[in-house]
Amino acid sequence: MKLATLAAAGFARQLCGAANDAFEVLVLGSGLAPITEALQHLGAAQVLYADHPALANPLADKYAALIGRVAQERDSTIIVGAASTFTKDILPRVAALLDAGMLSDVIEVRAEGDDFVFKRALFAGNAIATVKLAGSPKVLTVRAAAFTAPARVEAASPIVQVAVDTGTLPSQMEFVSRDTKVAGRPDATEAKRVVSGGRALKTPEDFERLVGGLADTLGAAVGSSRALVDGGITPNSLQIGQTGKVVAPELYVALGISGAIQHMAGMKDTKVIVAINKDADAPIFEIADYGLVADVYEAVPRLIEKLKT
Ligand SMILES: Cc1cc2nc3c(=O)[nH]c(=O)nc-3n(C[C@H](O)[C@H](O)[C@H](O)COP(=O)(O)OP(=O)(O)OC[C@H]3O[C@@H](n4cnc5c(N)ncnc54)[C@H](O)[C@@H]3O)c2cc1C
Repeated sequence: MKLATLAAAGFARQLCGAANDAFEVLVLGSGLAPITEALQHLGAAQVLYADHPALANPLADKYAALIGRVAQERDSTIIVGAASTFTKDILPRVAALLDAGMLSDVIEVRAEGDDFVFKRALFAGNAIATVKLAGSPKVLTVRAAAFTAPARVEAASPIVQVAVDTGTLPSQMEFVSRDTKVAGRPDATEAKRVVSGGRALKTPEDFERLVGGLADTLGAAVGSSRALVDGGITPNSLQIGQTGKVVAPELYVALGISGAIQHMAGMKDTKVIVAINKDADAPIFEIADYGLVADVYEAVPRLIEKLKT
């Protein structure tokens, strides 16, 4: 199960602990049996599932309509999802359908009387907004890095099927195809270790040899700065930062990355940051726990060799 999903469940449990209330999990898709079983030990009052071939791909119009309907039927007060590419598309539609207020990228919550106060990161994490949402229901997305997975609960939550009447679902969107990268290395948002490369890397081959090579030696995911994405050296899916993925691994190794605020917005919650940069004044060293002033083309092959022995 994705760490982000577990973080959203952790958030829900925290919220319900504070409000002395219960939460339910809703899962949508096709062939969901193994997933519903895995969700049974999160401490939810129920695991609801809508299982239908029409839901095999997350088309925002259908998903939003179903989530909205279930929330209305159950009189849900808060609808929460992990902040992700999919929820960015789906949950604002749910908020519109329910005429609800919406907050994205929530990083903290506290109870205040009968209500809640939320914190969310703005301007690449340089400002934190403290916000209250009027009315009910409320729709939220939460940052995976900000909340932890709930501890396993032995008692299994009951599993309840939600009826799917495809005739009542919107059909403006049609799924055509999906191009995904071939699985191999872990995803940066899920990995405990991430090795990222910046403009210092001159070609895709150099990136693969140095960044990919070090990542494989460490069992890490790879990431990149936007400079390399803009330069056509790495695919968009690798970008870490304000307009890319937000990661909070145990170890982040930045190779030839200057440390622009937009990049740091995506990795500054890492536990241990290691930077290699030939410029001793590079801003990345201000947040690095370990820094090496060196040329990545010289230092990284030696590091890989050393780690392999
Ligand atoms: C609205 C907006 C959103 C943005 N979103 C993002 C984002 O999500 N992610 C992101 O990364 N950026 C983002 N940017 C871009 C960001 O501002 C920087 O331009 C970018 O992060 C720089 O990438 P870089 O560190 O690889 O390159 P540079 O800033 O050019 O730094 C390269 C570094 O490599 C070092 N170096 C060069 N050669 C070597 C060598 N051989 N060995 C060792 N070190 C070497 C240099 O000393 C330098 O510090 C955004 C910008 C804007 C305006």
